[in-house]
Amino acid sequence: MSEKPAIAFLGLGHMGGPMAVNLVRAGYPVAGYDVVPAALEAAAAHGVATVSDPLDAVARAGVVLTMFPSGRHVLDAYRGVEGKPGLLEAAAPGTMFLDCSTINVDEAREAAALAVGAGHRSVDAPVSGGVVGAEAGTLTFMVGAEAEDFESVRPILEAMGKRVVHCGGHSAGQAAKICNNLILGVSMIAVSEAFVLGEKLGLTHQSLFDVASAASGQCWALTTNCPVPGPVPTSPANRDYRPGFAGALMAKDLRLALNALQSTGVAARLGPLASEIYDTFAAEGGADRDFSGIITDIRAKSQNDGSPA
Ligand code: NAD
Repeated sequence: MSEKPAIAFLGLGHMGGPMAVNLVRAGYPVAGYDVVPAALEAAAAHGVATVSDPLDAVARAGVVLTMFPSGRHVLDAYRGVEGKPGLLEAAAPGTMFLDCSTINVDEAREAAALAVGAGHRSVDAPVSGGVVGAEAGTLTFMVGAEAEDFESVRPILEAMGKRVVHCGGHSAGQAAKICNNLILGVSMIAVSEAFVLGEKLGLTHQSLFDVASAASGQCWALTTNCPVPGPVPTSPANRDYRPGFAGALMAKDLRLALNALQSTGVAARLGPLASEIYDTFAAEGGADRDFSGIITDIRAKSQNDGSPA
């Protein structure tokens, strides 16, 4: 692959829009496309050359980068729907299909098999870091790829992120992403339950934080994204749970983790429960709040008797 291949960037939403801007800034020839006209206009206003015909852009590209809401969107776009040709058919042989969406592990395997079967190359590279990281170019990429393909996309990913980790072959990036978010989702619930229990037992937030952050309860959910205001001034709890990482996205990622737990037969109990808890949180008003707002649900649903005076 030449040093700066032409990139067809499809999916210019909250994440894709600023990611495409960072590729343009790094000197990549980017042709951007989204099915939503407002997303196209926003990207164009930030200097991305947009196109009206994605298949034409794909035919001219060395790399097809997708940043879609779900695996269904990725597979439909790759294959084409309603008799229309898909991206795989439109692309020149040997094109790199680089999917940065967060999707099911099974769907990532299927997407890779379809791409490779059509004579192309395939990399899954989901991200963490949110919209702030996408804008600042500080995302973390978790990559599933053959070694040679990883090396060829690494400079592209480094133009959009600060950390790029090769996790293994096809779908390993998605696997790493959902395993990490399974830990995160469960640990935030545990930290939140501990703070509400501490409140009932008369502990101040600061004293519990001072002990747990320096003891075996230490974790990211506590020390970086602390669900109560005060101990960590930058955590979303200090700004009424403005995200951060929105409840809807945590609910989505835990559904993906749940699917993987079920399809692999893992004897998991906390993962399925956490998935249910965040689904309820998102459905009851938490979709657009930071996922650490789960503590307000736990507090609201707790019995009032037994609290210290
Ligand atoms: P989004 O809904 O804002 O953007 C997705 C875009 O894809 C939309 O603009 C949609 O119109 C477009 N799209 C869908 N099908 C298309 C097609 N066939 N052709 C062209 N465009 C198409 O979502 P987002 O927040 O940007 O997230 C994108 C992905 O990144 C998701 O998989 C999400 O789980 C993941 N992610 C998001 C965040 C975050 O903080 N938002 C963080 C980490 C990972």
